[in-house]
Amino acid sequence: MAILNETQLAKELIKFPSITPIDAGVMKFLEKKLKKLGFNTKIIEFKEKNFKPVKNLYARLGNKEPNFCYAGHLDVVPPGNINDWTVNPFKPSIKKGHLIGRGANDMKSSIAAFVSAVSNFLSKNKKFNGSISLLITGDEEGEAINGTKKVVKYLKKKKEKINFCLVGVPTNPNKLGEMIKIGRRGSLTGKLTIFGLQGHVAYPHRANNPSTTIVKILKEIKDIKFDKGTKDFQPTNLEITKININNPADNIIPAAATATFNIRFNNRHSSNSIKKRLNKIFNKISKKNRSKFKIEYRVSGEAFLTKPDKTTFMIQSIIKKITKIKPKLSTTGGTSDLRFIKTISPGLEFGLVGKTMHKVDEAVSLKDLKNLTKIYHTILQKYFK
Ligand SMILES: [Zn+2]
Repeated sequence: MAILNETQLAKELIKFPSITPIDAGVMKFLEKKLKKLGFNTKIIEFKEKNFKPVKNLYARLGNKEPNFCYAGHLDVVPPGNINDWTVNPFKPSIKKGHLIGRGANDMKSSIAAFVSAVSNFLSKNKKFNGSISLLITGDEEGEAINGTKKVVKYLKKKKEKINFCLVGVPTNPNKLGEMIKIGRRGSLTGKLTIFGLQGHVAYPHRANNPSTTIVKILKEIKDIKFDKGTKDFQPTNLEITKININNPADNIIPAAATATFNIRFNNRHSSNSIKKRLNKIFNKISKKNRSKFKIEYRVSGEAFLTKPDKTTFMIQSIIKKITKIKPKLSTTGGTSDLRFIKTISPGLEFGLVGKTMHKVDEAVSLKDLKNLTKIYHTILQKYFK
């Protein structure tokens, strides 16, 4: 069996302009590669009203347990102004030891590294004890409606068992080896509207200014001390992101005021417990000010954590051995697709250096790519030992 070269494969993947939710043929391309390695594959397309359909891929080699799963995404963010790039973002080029192109570190190269590692592993371990699987979505950078969330549902229905999941998104801030993510904070966005009574500024007793109410509410919710953080998590934090009072004149007390806020919360809370707490405040202050309120929430994900276990520590020590850096077990940053996968499997995230992700001239160092492939290969060897 031929061992696939990670750089070559990364280049081939980057050539597909797979900007969410467009697939551009990349899923089929990867499927072919995996089939050649002996995987059973299935491209699963999900549709939903008002959203573009998205292709996802689940591939599995072997039918025994344990099933070690690699998860990632083949969609990329738009390149922005192509003229700002020094190369064509979809014609990957190598300059000064770096592969440049959209998806170079977020995260086509990581997928290339894993597939290359698998091909290497299989060349020496034709009969290993267990299964290797890949869960690849095309909807990570977009709405995440027709992506991993639905694949997980599909796998649950099929009673597909995954024993451990490695998500290959970029996790290292500056150097390969710095950081493993073992969980993520939850994210909750709220849009609050306060309804008062419009009137003349000179006659406030005949009006009810919603801005007074909303300012009081925002002050109170910003001052909440949710927690002090935990061993694994930063403290829960609320940020007000928008305050809008659409008032065309300066002599009018407005009729309504809106504000938007986002909360990143740790695993001492759920989105529901936070909603309850906030709603109490909205109720209390609105009532006091004789105004009405409307609140709309959007939950991007709950907080989650995989308590470090022997697989976590095994992976940590492999990374340390290869990069000479002991990776921190962290829960910082935004949320990830592991928030969906954690409902069926424990897991962690480890990928490339995220410094240039979503930027112009997104790049990966070839040395990092080689080392990541080595890390993934060693993980497979140790996991199935
Ligand atoms: Zn991204």
